[in-house]
Amino acid sequence: MRQMITVLGATGSIGKSTLDVLARHKDLYEVFALSANTQVDVLLQQCLEYSPKYAVMVDEASAKQLSQSLKQHGSTVEVLTGASALVDIASDPEVDQVMAAIVGAAGLLPTLAAAQAGKRVLLANKEALVMSGHLFMQAVQDNQAELLPIDSEHNAIFQSLPLGYGQDPSCKQQIEKILLTASGGPFRGWGLDALSKVTPKQAVKHPNWSMGQKISVDSATLMNKGLELIEACWLFDVKPSQIEVVVHPESIIHSMVQYVDGSVICQMGNPDMRTPIAYGLAWPERIASGVKPLNLFEVAQLNFELPDRQSFPALDLASQAFEAGGTAAAILNAANEVAVAGFLREQIAFTSISNLIDETLNACKIEAADSIEAILAADAWARRFVEGKILS
Ligand code: NDP
Ligand code: MG
Repeated sequence: MRQMITVLGATGSIGKSTLDVLARHKDLYEVFALSANTQVDVLLQQCLEYSPKYAVMVDEASAKQLSQSLKQHGSTVEVLTGASALVDIASDPEVDQVMAAIVGAAGLLPTLAAAQAGKRVLLANKEALVMSGHLFMQAVQDNQAELLPIDSEHNAIFQSLPLGYGQDPSCKQQIEKILLTASGGPFRGWGLDALSKVTPKQAVKHPNWSMGQKISVDSATLMNKGLELIEACWLFDVKPSQIEVVVHPESIIHSMVQYVDGSVICQMGNPDMRTPIAYGLAWPERIASGVKPLNLFEVAQLNFELPDRQSFPALDLASQAFEAGGTAAAILNAANEVAVAGFLREQIAFTSISNLIDETLNACKIEAADSIEAILAADAWARRFVEGKILS
């Protein structure tokens, strides 16, 4: 029996890499549904190639366009629209695995729905977990969902932890700390003065990874590492103090686990997201991913340094938000999304992204994050707050 896969965010960087891996294993996997927001042409080509049962375009006008084009090609793919259709394709009884690769808060409801429906959730959409950590992990547990981290660092940590971690509480005593690696982004070594002048074009050009715009800017501010710190706390049930961020500019080691006996176990590989994607799809087995084998002689050197917390305050802001608990992380995430969009539209400076998040966290009222309504209300409040600041 082939596994049925829904790919949320199929037209994005992770979505395309996922389809590339799936295309190599047509005997193992079948595409059930694909989703996008507005990129009609890309989703059209994907539908023609993978023949899913459903295609969701959240934007209604784009959905109409896709539907017409598919008919012209004689395709029988059924086109759905609206955010609720994302929830439907993520929780459909026919689906085995859901790749959660929508960017930002827009992915929260369908990703949570996949967990609530007991699916294997391949989690790339870290923002969903950052916003709803406790609720999300509870949904995974209550519904016997399988949560496989796709974020390369968390996938590496997952691979480096002892077998049974998460089920057997004694495993935790073997762990000294988690070493979360960071490339340092395109502005590693830059001071605040130089950072205040960087352009969106410079910020989206990551030295090692090819990714969507939002996560590329997050990597440049180090907010990506901040979000990943929170992500790791929820995934592996640890505190920020048990995680050390290690800047490793080559992005060859994807993260490490340090054990009480002095051993440090890491996962290495070329920086290509198809490795963690293939791992998540096939776990506990392994399948070919198409990634070029690592040539250590070509790499030759691996370097490590401390993060610069002064020039890149986003890292500490994220850690503080996690410690504050409740809706603070959802507020941090929403403030970041709006500030990054403002920076990409050239309305604010690069350094204003972190400043605005700081201001938002200082001004907000933190509530318990015990319902999806409370989380969405906090998200909406933070968006309005930052939008107001950008316009003022
Ligand atoms: P992209 O921007 O490349 O793709 C985003 C996808 O989400 C697209 O399919 C897009 O559709 C869809 N989308 C955007 N907005 C909405 C919306 N409002 N409603 C529904 N769908 C929407 O992002 P990435 O692939 O780079 O990242 C996806 C997620 O994976 C992020 O959470 C990121 O942090 C995480 N991640 C990414 C990595 C990477 O290497 N790229 C590495 C680790 C994690 P459309 O194309 O139509 O706009
Ligand atoms: Mg990552």
